[in-house]
Amino acid sequence: MSLVVQKYGGSSVADLERIRLVARKVKKYWQEGHRLVVVVSAMGKTTDTLLSMALELCPLPPERELDMLLSTGEQVSVALLGMALFQEGVQAVSLTGGQAGIVTTQAHTKAKILHIQTERILRYLADGKVVVVAGFQGKTANEDITTLGRGGSDTTACALAAALKADFCEIYTDVNGVFTADPRIVPQARKITRIAYDEMSEMANLGAKVLQLRAVDFSQRYGVRVHVRSTFSEEEGTWVEEVSEMEEVKVKAITHSKDVVKVVLLGVPNQPGVAALIFKVLAEFSIFIDMIIQSEGRETEKDVAFVITKEDEGKAQKAINCLKECLSFREAKFDDSKGKVSIVGAGIASNPRIAYRMFDGLARLGVNIDMISTSNLRISCLIPRDRVEDSVQILHKEFLEEGEVVLRENS
Ligand code: ADP
Ligand code: ASP
Ligand code: MG
Repeated sequence: MSLVVQKYGGSSVADLERIRLVARKVKKYWQEGHRLVVVVSAMGKTTDTLLSMALELCPLPPERELDMLLSTGEQVSVALLGMALFQEGVQAVSLTGGQAGIVTTQAHTKAKILHIQTERILRYLADGKVVVVAGFQGKTANEDITTLGRGGSDTTACALAAALKADFCEIYTDVNGVFTADPRIVPQARKITRIAYDEMSEMANLGAKVLQLRAVDFSQRYGVRVHVRSTFSEEEGTWVEEVSEMEEVKVKAITHSKDVVKVVLLGVPNQPGVAALIFKVLAEFSIFIDMIIQSEGRETEKDVAFVITKEDEGKAQKAINCLKECLSFREAKFDDSKGKVSIVGAGIASNPRIAYRMFDGLARLGVNIDMISTSNLRISCLIPRDRVEDSVQILHKEFLEEGEVVLRENS
């Protein structure tokens, strides 16, 4: 008898009718004899609504209290799905993340899963029950409620699948799988039928929010096969799994993010140890840094620019204030007018022609590139935020439509 973890995202449980639909889907699997753990997100935009209420009361809310608030969204969904399943005649039990045994670090709003005590879930499964678990949350060793970062229900599902050694993990969402670009921006985007963990991880990292980055990393580490598919159709979706041989160097997808902020430190002393100090302070505040540029500058001073996520802006402001106490610089500027477009695919950055085609595509649109970063799996450009959509479209056209050019190594 197979054990499957299914996760239903916010849009899949946005109202009571959709919760009923999910209950019927779950019932079908349960009747086929599968053992099921079902992870659910908060209904629709509930998390956004809760967050904006918090920010209205307090611009930098205590993160423990924020977790207390945000975790309620998922509790509503599990209770309602539990009732809908009861109504369908399915034996089910709903659990918060903490009740499901998900123990995390104390890093409120971005907690990491330390381990999962699976006994309680296994007991319910052995009794033939469907176990409905609140996504996006856990508890610390001190019983404080934590959350796992935006989109964290994906991580709950993949981590449970790993801990329970499930046969696979199904991520049900509002699109038919992982596409070559966000299908809401590029109508011609194609569904990718199989994608390697590494490529999916890079896509998630660069803004393809269809799967949270940490969920991909968990799945890769524990060998969980993930099937991303739609709640609203029976169509096969995308399998994220180990893909052996990747001989072809080709662009797999175009991703974008508008949730970025560029930070510039002007007039930083030009001497050894300064960059280390800046990034030490940012690391102490757990701020995720993407691109970094240090300008040529003058003899005695330089400018340092880096890109953070919008979510970390408040913390970055605090970090820069701390930095002021131990480093003299002229000014810190926060630039909220930028977005990021990236091309993703194994090995692409090693082929200069691919970089040329990316930059040329943006040049043809008249888009000015502000910063560039590369890794073996991607090339990213920071550009004006209001040019993100048309840039994604032109890059999709360049690399993924019109008779796709495949470049072999050494070509
Ligand atoms: P859920 O609420 O189910 O977790 P999300 O909104 O977090 O769903 O993620 C699904 C959304 O991700 C889609 O509606 C789509 O707009 C967006 N998305 C961005 N990039 C991609 C991509 N490359 N493939 C598929 N969806 C993508
Ligand atoms: N409800 C949370 C969010 O909106 C977690 C999730 O949906 O995965 O980020
Ligand atoms: Mg999501």
